[in-house]
Amino acid sequence: MKRRKLINNITVGAASAAALAACNQTTTQTTTTDSLPKIRWKMTTSWPRSLDTIFGAAQTVCDRVAAMTNGRFKITPYSAGEIVPGLEVLDAVQQRTVQCGHTASYYYIGKNPALAFGTTIPFGLTAQQQNAWYYHGGGLETMHKLYSDFNIISFPAGNTGVQMGGWFKREIKTVGDLNGLKMRIPGFGGQVMSRLGVNVQVLPGGEIFLALERGALDAAEWVGPYDDLKLGLHKAAKYYYYPGWWEPGPTFEVQVNLNEWNKLPKEYQEAFKSAAYQANISMLAQYDALNGAALAELIAGDTELRSYSQEILQAAQKEAFAFYEEKASQDATFKEIYEEWKKFREQIYKWNAINELSFAQFTFNNQE
Ligand code: CA
Repeated sequence: MKRRKLINNITVGAASAAALAACNQTTTQTTTTDSLPKIRWKMTTSWPRSLDTIFGAAQTVCDRVAAMTNGRFKITPYSAGEIVPGLEVLDAVQQRTVQCGHTASYYYIGKNPALAFGTTIPFGLTAQQQNAWYYHGGGLETMHKLYSDFNIISFPAGNTGVQMGGWFKREIKTVGDLNGLKMRIPGFGGQVMSRLGVNVQVLPGGEIFLALERGALDAAEWVGPYDDLKLGLHKAAKYYYYPGWWEPGPTFEVQVNLNEWNKLPKEYQEAFKSAAYQANISMLAQYDALNGAALAELIAGDTELRSYSQEILQAAQKEAFAFYEEKASQDATFKEIYEEWKKFREQIYKWNAINELSFAQFTFNNQE
């Protein structure tokens, strides 16, 4: 009896070991990427390589994809101008000059004004609110629908947080002071500034300093203290304004040609999506960690910090919403997205006024 039980146990044990081995084998086969193809992609970007924040987000996507696929799917990022100019990323991805790009959707509002929502619009959403809209408010689906017209799929992959309000060679106190100023400012911010009398220019980041220094521009905005210091903008203009009301939480993105995307194994698509998520959060954290010290350095130098006057902020907000209403009356797609977006904004503003704003208003101004 005892002997029989022992034999049975051995049999069961052997069977279990065999099952376990089979299971291990299966697990090995399904989790390894070694059976998946070696793929090499190029990622063109809108950024100079010197900006480790924003070009760094493109690098993060590439590095994480390589790490998650055991180096079998490698993407190489290129700075603006290496393959195509910084503001032609969408075109290059659409035409398959490259498989993917890292850029901002609002550089392409000339192709479809609704693309602005993917980055930011004046008096719009903060970084936290942008993420809420993108990931849980229908934003990603909205952008995917818009980009399908370009045979592109996009994913958020970076955010700056609330930006600064730009560099001016002289003080700007009234709306009248803006009249005739030549300013680098892209997206809908530029459209609103134009309605306030500004002569708007759009240049890639790497070209701003020379234009400002040589007098081709009277004013320019980029991102915030850390990047602006790196680009040397403080050496070309003295007055540094805040807040960047036209860019409260701009999202940067990776764009992928849909034919190339559809050719990827599902595992690589998932790795790419996770890498974009990581870049989206990491870039914002990097800016938030670095901007405070950079601002202190600028103020310790010749930079004069100024806040926009209530007069300018109120006029800009009024013009911004008049502009959105005009666009909505001319363009059915814009109208549909704008109305949904506006509802989302109203609701999240109400909630964040209760939790975020009330906390910040007290603690930021009453530090122990
Ligand atoms: Ca900006």
